[in-house]
Amino acid sequence: MQPMISLNDVTFQYGDAGFRLHIDSLSIASSAKVAFVGPSGSGKTTLLHLLAGIFVPTAGRVEVAGHALSELGDASRRDFRIANVGQVFQDFELVDYLNVRDNILLPFYINSQLTLDAKTREEADDLADSLGLGDKLRRPIGNLSQGERQRVAICRALLPRPRLILADEPTGNLDPVNTDHVLDILLERATSAG
Ligand code: ADP
Ligand code: MG
Repeated sequence: MQPMISLNDVTFQYGDAGFRLHIDSLSIASSAKVAFVGPSGSGKTTLLHLLAGIFVPTAGRVEVAGHALSELGDASRRDFRIANVGQVFQDFELVDYLNVRDNILLPFYINSQLTLDAKTREEADDLADSLGLGDKLRRPIGNLSQGERQRVAICRALLPRPRLILADEPTGNLDPVNTDHVLDILLERATSAG
């Protein structure tokens, strides 16, 4: 079976002399659950940006879910991302002037490829509830704790049921109980993805 992720002789460099990430070869099967582990500054976020098609490699081939991302232009990579990837950003990238529910539904507001129906709205509320945000749906993002924001970002990434979930330190701001719970939900969703 074709792997979900396949990298071949990939180099990415910031500018002419910045940090340089090189990966000889990486292959990850569909339905696999993988953690990239390394110290701060080792390139984990950079790698996730390559897998999401936010960055294109300086050299080499990046293939994700059957799409040769390194060959595609900006618009095609964006379409790929909307259709296939659920991303939890390290800095969340939530919209401050929207409330929790609207942040979770955001991909459905801005992407015509995703259809917002009553069932999706219900799923959004259920997902928020399962991550302990059920009583905060109308709260603006601005008055949430970091851990609460992180959980909103996770709900937003999972709601469209993406084939690929890319989560950048998704439990970095959570206490041990929430960490276990969030990992359970991420892994459960990953099991049913692909
Ligand atoms: P990690 O997520 O493992 O902490 P990153 O991928 O964020 O590491 O960063 C890897 C290296 O690339 C770091 O040295 C960082 O300073 C550098 N870096 C990250 N983003 C940029 C950028 N936009 N421009 C230049 N250098 C960057
Ligand atoms: Mg990082």
